[in-house]
Amino acid sequence: MLIVGKQILITFIIFFLISSFGIGQVVWIYLDSKKREDKWGILWAILAMTPIFLPMLLPLPLIVYLLVTRAFSIKCPNCKMKISSEFSSCPNCGWKLKEKCKSCGSPLKNEWKYCPYCNNKIEVE
Ligand SMILES: [Zn+2]
Ligand SMILES: [Zn+2]
Repeated sequence: MLIVGKQILITFIIFFLISSFGIGQVVWIYLDSKKREDKWGILWAILAMTPIFLPMLLPLPLIVYLLVTRAFSIKCPNCKMKISSEFSSCPNCGWKLKEKCKSCGSPLKNEWKYCPYCNNKIEVE
C-alpha cells in the first residue's frame, strides 16, 4: 500500500513538473517574441502548446524557438540591441552594419573586395 502511494506521488510530481515547464515555456516564448516584436508570436505560442498532445516533444518548441530566433540574430555594436543578422543597418540607432554595393545595392560583407552579385570592385572609403 505504501509503495503504491509513493508511485502515485512520484507520478504526480513528474506530471506537475512537466506541466509547469510546458506552461512556463508557452508564456516565456510568447513574451519573448512580443519583446522582439516578432509578428509570429502567436504562432510560436501555439507551437509551444503542442506538447499538450505529444508530451514526449516537450523541450522541442523551446529548442526550435531558440535556434530560429537566436542563431539568426546579432547584437548591434553601437547600441547592443539584438537584431536580425539579415539587416544592413540597426533599426534602433541607425548604425551601418553592412556596406551596400554601389552598383547593384546588395548587402556586402566587410572582407569582400568584389561584389559577388555584379562583380563590381568594392571601394573602401
Ligand atoms: Zn543599434
Ligand atoms: Zn554589386
